Amino acid sequence: MNCRICDSTNLELAIDLGQQPWCNHFLKREEVGQEPFYPLRVLFCHHCATAQLDYTVAKEIMFGDHTYLSGVTQSLSAHFKKIASEVDERFFQQAPGKSVLDIGSNDGTQLKHFQALNYDVLGVESSKGTARIAQAAGVPTLNEFFNFEVARRLGRKFHVINAAGVFFHLEELHSVTDGIREALREDGVFVVQFLYMKRIVDNLAFDQIYHEHLLYYNLQTIETLLNRHGLALFDAWLSPIHGGSMIGFITHQSRQAPPSERLQKLRQQEAAEKSNELATYLKFAGRIQQMKVDNLAYLAAARNRGKRIFGLGAPVKGNTLLNYFGIGRQYLDCLVEKNELRRGLFSPGMHLEVLIEKELTQLPDIYYVLAWNFKKEILANNQPLLERGVEFYFPVDPQEISA
Ligand SMILES: [Zn+2]
Repeated sequence: MNCRICDSTNLELAIDLGQQPWCNHFLKREEVGQEPFYPLRVLFCHHCATAQLDYTVAKEIMFGDHTYLSGVTQSLSAHFKKIASEVDERFFQQAPGKSVLDIGSNDGTQLKHFQALNYDVLGVESSKGTARIAQAAGVPTLNEFFNFEVARRLGRKFHVINAAGVFFHLEELHSVTDGIREALREDGVFVVQFLYMKRIVDNLAFDQIYHEHLLYYNLQTIETLLNRHGLALFDAWLSPIHGGSMIGFITHQSRQAPPSERLQKLRQQEAAEKSNELATYLKFAGRIQQMKVDNLAYLAAARNRGKRIFGLGAPVKGNTLLNYFGIGRQYLDCLVEKNELRRGLFSPGMHLEVLIEKELTQLPDIYYVLAWNFKKEILANNQPLLERGVEFYFPVDPQEISA
């Protein structure tokens, strides 16, 4: 294959997570056992250092009908509010007729925060059901896959373009990036929010690897992509959201904004810790193996002591972990989730039933926390359970990010 960023054919296998089902599709009872499996492998590009999947599940399958809602989680909504405030205060507080385009706008959570700051907003969201939820909430939303053609058709330019958690999904990577350049005003700012691969490696958060995530960026690699399309990063900071997300600020390359001090520091860290080298990824793969051994030993010991264990959360990423570790009904009775769209569905591959938290009739002895990225919120919301002795086990437990 060719590298998704630089077209090089000089790629090498770094991490092999075996055959995995398409993890975003929770199964109806009649679909259990019918789900297809695809290879889940991360390759390293020797030319531009981008980590990426070699196998692409068609985007119409992956994003036509997803059931992830960003508004369900309080900490995510608070994060989006912070981003809107930062962008407004730093760049456009006084701008007349300010506008924002959100790519992969989900249920409109991010855009509502911009509306509150008097922005004219537009969302582009590929999932029909999710786009409808946003529309009903008063957030103008196009039900489309954003790309260069869509940007041309819109025929307008925006002060702010935001793309949160979508940049690694993009199969039409180059068309989408061209579309962003096309729709961005000359003085506009593009805000990209992406899972930071260096953090994934540091924290052993390998469950962030799944078919929807075709690309795994560090700063060096996303800058390669942006520069190729006439865009340039001038500032970035690391947020604790999703266990470690990079928030990057980008302008047209022609404006040549000098890189901020904190961006330069982050770049230096990547270089010092060899984050863009194959050896680092191979070491990561070895640590994931060891983690599997440790987790299965913990679960088996707990089961042998007669403990009742439920999975907490039914996040998409949890399926990578469950399938790679081989954690099914022999360890977990069910997955417990807030998002009612997943009520009564079964996890792909491992076939664990999803129950809704407020409808539980019995409590577990142990919660095996798949939604580990919301650790603070989970522990805060579950004080009564903790006091009753329910244990919360976090298979992935990222280091804190100092603000
Ligand atoms: Zn490459």
